[in-house]
Amino acid sequence: MSSASNHEIHVDNSLSGLILKHTEVPVQKCYQCGKCSAGCPVVSEMDYPPSLILRMLQTGLPEMEEKVLRSYSIWLCLSCEQCISRCPMEIDIPKMMDYLRQVSYKKKMVNPRAKNIVRFHKAFLDSIRTTGRLSEFGLTVDYKLRSLKMMQDLTLVPSMISRGKLGFIPEMIKGTKEMAKIFAKTTGLKSEEEK
Ligand code: SF4
Ligand code: SF4
Repeated sequence: MSSASNHEIHVDNSLSGLILKHTEVPVQKCYQCGKCSAGCPVVSEMDYPPSLILRMLQTGLPEMEEKVLRSYSIWLCLSCEQCISRCPMEIDIPKMMDYLRQVSYKKKMVNPRAKNIVRFHKAFLDSIRTTGRLSEFGLTVDYKLRSLKMMQDLTLVPSMISRGKLGFIPEMIKGTKEMAKIFAKTTGLKSEEEK
């Protein structure tokens, strides 16, 4: 199995088959050496280590796939790529995690502990969708409103402003309409112009 190309692995309707189809990450090539989990900086916070996520997916059992999609681990992954550098099979775990997050979100299976991470993702994307750039101040306020954590970190604000780390007025790019169209195309949501 280890010498087989990705195309030689059977693609079926299991979650690992969909991962292969959409990301070309060959879940079935993992042989459980555990090096990825040993080097992962957030493994102690995860409910399942990365190598176990791969093993659960390899089984193809619906109950295991559901556990993966409801796991906290997929939302904790930092995309640091430490695991890829250690993996003898060069399995792109962060790319797989990214796909699993999308499926988990679409199927409304997001782990309750990951709600704030999802809010941050939304605030991040909204900031880029509306201004074409990342507005630190807008992102922070948006995240605080969504998470209802308005007072947390408030003492940090004055020093961040004085060090130029927090700008009040977001910079706009010229092609904001094009940016909205790209978002509409990739997320399936209509831009203001098209409504
Ligand atoms: S990319 Fe994700 S799974 Fe891999 S080592 Fe980093 S945090 Fe862990
Ligand atoms: S390092 Fe690679 S082969 Fe080893 S367990 Fe992790 S993903 Fe599987």
